[in-house]
Amino acid sequence: MNTNILTLASSLSDHDLLARVVVLAAKEREASAELVAHLAALDARPALYAAEGHGSLFTYCTDVLRLSEDAACNRIQAARACRDFPMILDLLGSGAMSLTSVRMLRPHLTTENHEAVLARASGRSRREIEALVAELAPRPDVPSSVRKLPTAMPAPTLIPAATPPAARVEAATLGASEPAPPVSSPPPPLTTRRPVIESTSPERYRVQFTIGKESHDKLRRVQALLRREIPDGDPGAIFDRALTLLLEKVEKATVSQRDGGQCAFVSKSGHRCTERTFLEFHHIVPYALGGLATVENISLRCRRHNQYEADLIFGPRSFSEAREVDRLQERPAVEQPSRQLRDELQATERRGRSAHQARDARGWSTPISRDLGASRSFDIPRTLHR
Ligand SMILES: [Zn+2]
Repeated sequence: MNTNILTLASSLSDHDLLARVVVLAAKEREASAELVAHLAALDARPALYAAEGHGSLFTYCTDVLRLSEDAACNRIQAARACRDFPMILDLLGSGAMSLTSVRMLRPHLTTENHEAVLARASGRSRREIEALVAELAPRPDVPSSVRKLPTAMPAPTLIPAATPPAARVEAATLGASEPAPPVSSPPPPLTTRRPVIESTSPERYRVQFTIGKESHDKLRRVQALLRREIPDGDPGAIFDRALTLLLEKVEKATVSQRDGGQCAFVSKSGHRCTERTFLEFHHIVPYALGGLATVENISLRCRRHNQYEADLIFGPRSFSEAREVDRLQERPAVEQPSRQLRDELQATERRGRSAHQARDARGWSTPISRDLGASRSFDIPRTLHR
């Protein structure tokens, strides 16, 4: 039968398909609100499910109604909230609030505040509900800490049947007399929790700290902007990128300060170049030869000396190649280079690399200058005065 529904749905026109899913979603919300209302009534008559052989409404929901543990928890919590504040049923039916939102807000609803709180919660996302809950019941900052996590043991192939599932323990608690504790989703299987020492796994560290609203907003913005690169918005991955960028910035600033914002090239006769404009970051051990972007390995050079030293190592560029790069570099500096300009630069670099194998090692194409994006030269004086 369900196969037929799929066939039917697949045969609908675009317009009809869109209209149909809207109708079905509304039906599902109405059915859900109706079930919650009936569970609220059943919750008030425990003898009913007790006579059927069930010790709690939760086990009745999972065993007889075939609800998942999560679904049962959400609906029972919503049912109990509705007994106290019946207007929630309308909010559920209209889709203004989800079962999850109701479950999250329930512990914070009072006779005095429920109308105002529910009005504020209507049409809000889960994240906004979290913020509302935090406002209603502020918690102290999580203490900042960095600690090493124990290495997880690979899950055994067989879990003893006698082990009571953790979710059942919660279920028993939930079904007990009022008030029910806040319900969380069932914990992961016990096997993933057992701390075991195993030296072959990579090291992992738990970093925990509390951030302010501004930092939180920045995090959300970065998550949105990096959606392609970090689809799940993992704060750990973002933290790593932020540290990498910060480290580069600090190292550049340190190099600039150490070299006094001046080309640090010293001739054999002991003369130091006096150029202070169009400075670039020069890798002492070239990037292509494994040189790192560290304070020790980077030094300021004017464009001429950066090129001079690259030529000493990799041989001079051909005249046409040098001209092409110069032509592109001498375009007016802009904050954001056009994609076309970037592509041209990269193509020129690639051609150079294939010709010389290690063109990338030149100071003007180190990772630092590439990341700057806006221009190949780095205007040191401007940076120092910032
Ligand atoms: Zn110089």
